[in-house]
Order: sequence, then structure tokens, then C-alpha cells
Amino acid sequence: MTQTVASGSEQNIQVAIRRALEGTPKIELTAVFPCEGPFEVQLPVWRPGRYEKGNFGRYVYSMRGKQSDGTWVDLKKSTLHKWQVPEGVQTISWIFFADLFNAGSTGVAEDILYINPVNCFLYHPDHQDWGYSIDLIDVPENWSVATGLKHSDGQWHARDVQNIMDSPILAAEALTHLSYESQGIPFHIWIYGKDQPDPDSFMKDHIAFTESQIAHFGSFPAEHYHFMYVLPERDVRHGVEHEDTTVIALGPSAKSQTKAGYDELIGIASHELYHAWNVKRIRPAEWTPYDFSQACPSRLGYVAEGVTTYMGDLFLFESGVIDLQGWCLLTERLLDRHVNNPGRLNCSVAESSYDTWLDGYEPGVPGRKGSIYVEGAVLALLCDVRIMQLTGGEASLQTAMRMLWEQFGADRIGLTESDYWSVLNEVAGAVDALEDLRFNYAEGVEDSWDDLVAAMEWQGLELTKTIEDGRWHVAIINA
Ligand SMILES: [Zn+2]
Repeated sequence: MTQTVASGSEQNIQVAIRRALEGTPKIELTAVFPCEGPFEVQLPVWRPGRYEKGNFGRYVYSMRGKQSDGTWVDLKKSTLHKWQVPEGVQTISWIFFADLFNAGSTGVAEDILYINPVNCFLYHPDHQDWGYSIDLIDVPENWSVATGLKHSDGQWHARDVQNIMDSPILAAEALTHLSYESQGIPFHIWIYGKDQPDPDSFMKDHIAFTESQIAHFGSFPAEHYHFMYVLPERDVRHGVEHEDTTVIALGPSAKSQTKAGYDELIGIASHELYHAWNVKRIRPAEWTPYDFSQACPSRLGYVAEGVTTYMGDLFLFESGVIDLQGWCLLTERLLDRHVNNPGRLNCSVAESSYDTWLDGYEPGVPGRKGSIYVEGAVLALLCDVRIMQLTGGEASLQTAMRMLWEQFGADRIGLTESDYWSVLNEVAGAVDALEDLRFNYAEGVEDSWDDLVAAMEWQGLELTKTIEDGRWHVAIINA
């Protein structure tokens, strides 16, 4: 397809966003591309952090292009998530549904503008290096804006498609802002919500797990980091990781003032920060870089989510945010889900990783598959103990994760299954040190219960399970 790049223009897409609050909440987006049609524009079909089709096209009410005579014309689709931009058209305007308040969505109201560009921004498939400049045209000057994007001349700027699609924007009049520094990196906590957690303990706990994680990785991968908390009055519990931000949604907001709700927030926060290394940088080859136009299955979901689930909890303990009993409670809950899902004995966690694109975020048909979060975390625990056993406690799974960060993550070299396992084996001191764990529990469907009992015993913990009314209950006792 031929196309003309407008002479003298910057290679930048100018986007303006306005809230439309009458009736169903929506946003109106207008984008001026640095070229005239004919070309095609693409809307992402999925978002990193949720490895299934998001089909965001279902939220688009209309898509129009401005012709050279100033009139607007409806754009036709060439695929479900692509539109044809006719000759002479450079400006596109679209209306997008904006009444969702989970951690990966887009929602607006009188007092908030919350955008995840990955579900509502268009891009030019052949020019993913183009930057974005964003105007939040109806956001009053007295509102706070939380985002990892750079700000200058009244606009927010992204360097390219990978950057904009990974940069949520949260703007509100009443946005609590806390900040701290760890190893020279500025960290920001932004909170939107009627009821909010106690700021002093919230900040203290953030500082503790942040310092502990950075100490164990040796360095932090971004120039700054923003925890963005969206606490709406709706039921929600969700977190999504980004390069230098995370969005964590919990609602109704009053939950954040209960012990259980507070613990949930801190647990999600530690998990999401760990993702700044693991998955945002130590990333499966299939997602390096992200291809937003199609499903990108990977068998390494158990590293992305399983290792992160295990490490997120472990760092709460490591940093003193929770005590051993607190860690045992979290692990009991995890193992309850493990033992009560027969699907883990049907589909390996590597296969379940690949298949998240089919049914990874729903129960699925009975007994078919495992959860990459749960089975991945169980496997991570077994690997961690194995490495500690073989090295006399000198190394652990975290030693391997640090090596993966240094060898793959820092340079953004996509990770393969064999890369992952060879680094773990190397850290454990033998080429086949963890091969049985890989073949039985990553690629196989063996029951890991006996190995789990032995791993806990090695750590001085007694693991038992009892059955009641057909459901297993796991207990971990500090022996
Ligand atoms: Zn995660």
C-alpha cells in the first residue's frame, strides 16, 4: 500500500482526549497522524498482563476520518480491529466506551479520567516507532495527573507504540500522592477513592518490599515508578503491571480500610513491583516486543505469573511486612487452590500457559487445565527449595532471577524455555539439577504433593491436607 508522509511534520501522532459524560460514559479521541491516507490503523486486540484476546473493538461506537474539505466520513474496517483510512485523511476521531474500572480498563466520571491506551489508542502498523503527544483537553488545571509518561508543553509524550501502550494515565481532582526514594529511584503512590488505606503504614510497607526487591536484583529497571491505586465504589480486585507503573484496583473503596483489604493491596503491590523485572524485562521471546495485533501464546506463563506470585509473597515475608505465620497463611490458600484443581493433572502448566488465550481467565471446563498463577507458584517453590538444598543455602530461585535479569532482562533479550531452565540449573550447580522438576511439573502432569511435603519439611514446616465434604484443606505448621 502506498502512503504519503506529510512533509515537515514530526513523526508523532497527536492525540486529544475528551470525556463525554452524558448518558453512558465515553471518551472521544482525536488523532492527527503524520501522514495522509490511504493507510490502515490498528486497535490492539489484547493487553500485556492478560494473555487472552481483549477484543477492544467492541468498545468502539464510531470511527470517522476528516476529509480534506473538512467533512467527516465513516471509516470502513479491513479486519475486526483495523480500519482503512482513505486518501487525503490525516485526522481520525473515535468514540470509546469508558465505564470500566478494573486495573486494565478505561473509565471516566465527573471526578476522574482513567485511560489505558492499550485498549483505546490506534496505531499505524507500519510505523510503530512513531511517538505520541497527548492532550487531556477537559482535565482542569487543578487536577493531578499520574502517569509514567513524560510531560512538557502541556502535553504527555510517549516515544513509540511499545511505550504508549504500557502507560496508563490517571487524572483526578482528589488524588492522594505519597512518595519515597529507594536506591536513588523516586517511587510514587497515587490513590483515587472515597475511602483510602492508612497512609503511614501504606508507605512504610511499600518502602520495605521495594527496598528488599531492589536489593535482591541489584538494580531497578526504570527511572521512576508509580503505584496507581483506583479504589472505586464497585466490586473489583485486580492489578496490572507496566514498565514503570502499575494500576491496582480494589473496590468498594472501604475495603482498603479493613485488614483483609489492606493486606490484599500490599500483596498485589509487591507482586506488581516484581513484574517490573519479571515479565516487563525478563520476558518470554513471544512477547518481545509485544505484537498487539494478534494472539501471542507462550509456554512460559508459569515464569511470568507463577514465579511472580511466589516471589511477591516471599518478599512480603523477606522485608518484614508479614511474619512467617502470614506467609504460611498465604501459601495455605495457594495450595488449597492447587490440591483442589484436578485440571493440573490433565494439562501441564506449560500447556496451560499457552492456552491462557483460550480460557486462562475463567474456570474453563471441569478438570481440563491448571492456573499459571497457582501451578506456576507451586513449581517456583519447588525450584527455590531445590536450589537452596543443592547449594547449601548459598543460592536460591532469586539468585537465578537476578541472573536472568542481568543476562536477558536488562538487554531485553526474549527468554525461551531452555534459557530459563539452563540458568536455574547453572545456579543449582549441575546441568540436570532441576530436570525432574521441569519434566514432571512444568511439562508433565505429575502430582507434586510428596515433593511439596519434603520441600516444606526441609524448611522446618509441616505440610498436611485433610478432606472434608469432598474438598481438600491444606495446613502448614511451623514444626
Ligand atoms: Zn501478575
